[in-house]
Amino acid sequence: MPAAREVIVGIDLGTTNSLVAVLDETGPRVLGEEGDAIVPSAVRYQDDGSVVVGREARERAVEFPRETITSAKRLMGRSLDDVREEAAQLPYDIVEGEGHTARVHLPTGRVVSPQEVSAEILRHLKAKASDALGIEVRKAVVTVPAYFDDAQRQATRDAGRLAGLEVVRIVNEPTAAALAYGLGTGKGAARTVAVYDLGGGTFDISILRLTPAENEGETSFFQVLATSGDTHLGGDDVDLALVRLFLREIRELLELPESLTDLEAFNPQTRRAMVGFAEAVKHRLSDERAASIRIELGNNRAYERTVTRDELEEIMTPWVERTIEACAEAMRLAERAPGVETIELDAVILVGGSTRVPMVRQRVEAFFGLSPYTALDPDRVVALGAAVQAGIMSGAASGMLLLDVVPLSLGIETQGGAMAKLIVSGSTVPARATEMFSTSVDGQTSIKIHVLQGEREMAEHCRSLGEFHLSGLPPMPAGIPQLAVEFLVDASGVLSVRAHEKRSGKRAQLQVIPSHGLSRAEIDRIEAESLKHAREDMTRHRIVDLVVNAKLDLKWIGERLAKYGSKLEPENRASLEARLAEVQGLIENAELDWKAVDADAFYAAKQSLDEASVRLQEIGIAESLRGD
Ligand code: AMP
Repeated sequence: MPAAREVIVGIDLGTTNSLVAVLDETGPRVLGEEGDAIVPSAVRYQDDGSVVVGREARERAVEFPRETITSAKRLMGRSLDDVREEAAQLPYDIVEGEGHTARVHLPTGRVVSPQEVSAEILRHLKAKASDALGIEVRKAVVTVPAYFDDAQRQATRDAGRLAGLEVVRIVNEPTAAALAYGLGTGKGAARTVAVYDLGGGTFDISILRLTPAENEGETSFFQVLATSGDTHLGGDDVDLALVRLFLREIRELLELPESLTDLEAFNPQTRRAMVGFAEAVKHRLSDERAASIRIELGNNRAYERTVTRDELEEIMTPWVERTIEACAEAMRLAERAPGVETIELDAVILVGGSTRVPMVRQRVEAFFGLSPYTALDPDRVVALGAAVQAGIMSGAASGMLLLDVVPLSLGIETQGGAMAKLIVSGSTVPARATEMFSTSVDGQTSIKIHVLQGEREMAEHCRSLGEFHLSGLPPMPAGIPQLAVEFLVDASGVLSVRAHEKRSGKRAQLQVIPSHGLSRAEIDRIEAESLKHAREDMTRHRIVDLVVNAKLDLKWIGERLAKYGSKLEPENRASLEARLAEVQGLIENAELDWKAVDADAFYAAKQSLDEASVRLQEIGIAESLRGD
């Protein structure tokens, strides 16, 4: 049997959540069913000796506080002395083991090491990956925080070994994030990158310097110039601040004693429910300007409250500022790193669920003066990067797309469902293009921007990369908004689409990595398809554009006709109306079946409508000059 290339997976072994990912010819992807890919880093030891790992363990942690081990990562490779403060916060018992190490003491009397707990999580991920890939996975790249010392790294390797996984490399989490964005794998010059990682319970900021490979086939080297952060700062703090606000108001509503503002005064179930409410409100406010909650208080009473984004931002300001102070500290440290003269950042990467908060993004952008990378899911980016490293080591990365050129055209859907290409395939990166668009309907207050990839002329035959809305526009007549859409593919292959409506100043943007999910074979297929359909596609695109423009003509001419029609000579009016009817008929036919319409005939009909409307336009201009 030919020796199959051995698969190596990438694992993000996190404090709260863990994930496993793999690299194939379409790029890195997280393994597991949607909703099940993220495994809570929680392990419950049951009395019968069995263990429960993941979601179920997390969900029932309140019921089994001393049997459910969460945050084991905080104890990895540390002595009891190191973690004394930490231990006071954890609901389970911690004792001293061999060599002064911190161990978990279970109610059954059993003592387990943090490595054993982590091994349960790794075993779970190994099984998940083996299931998904249909082979037994034996090797993994595992990520750790950049500040982990040798003992903590060794403990992580040991956890792998206990789980039956050979940890072929330990990679720093910020380095993995950079790899996920393709930094260091292309031919780009040395890059300096800040990785801002704000999760539920921890905050890390790392400044990396990427030194590109000198020889073909070697990988770039990432040097950690500086790290800073806070091991007890994260989204959980915001949840608690919101809970305190709710409790204070509930107490006032029910006229209860002051001690009830303290969450400790409630039973664990109520506490969990309150935190759940708070987290849901927080999440909604990342997308919306306001969110409402209603909490039943019994006796037909309820606490109802709308929280606005402004209010939440006021609560979050000191919290965000603490992260920014740590960023400033990391930048100062990086500047003092050996061999460094000045730090000029090329990229800022966001990691961790809390970086979905718009205020966090804005503040990070303002501090570093760079628009951060957000194209990848901040919960998955570290695992994806671990998979890239794993793929480099297994050889799977050799099939990956080279990103020196844009492999397929990039554009947006225009009115009528056509694809307007802004950057054509084969363009070298970095590539940039800007085009102006407008609206086709009066009073539109929101414009949808649908980003597409492909060679065909119609949106329905292209690959959708995502969509976003430019909303909050003041109502304007059709055609008046001036929408500038800018596409930028940077040297790492990350596409940023920015939309800017010039009259109102409104802006919105989207970031994606177009090469993810795309293999060489798929690109070849798409190119062949587009050649096959080229003629038909061109005609259809032309007809769609004619329909859109003809509709605008009909609208304008119709409006002027209603206003000044009585001033037109009768024969002129009759001819104009006949042509209007003709074009109207062609639009209707084209919308029913574009193939039934001859594009040249349509074009000619539209031209003669334009000619027939000249007189009406002249009257309109004359009348408006007279002050009408
Ligand atoms: P992580 O530790 O990276 O999994 O991040 C988890 C944290 O991200 C939790 O505090 C979540 O509440 C927070 N989070 C996840 N999604 C959002 C969102 N859409 N808006 C605000 N916070 C979020």
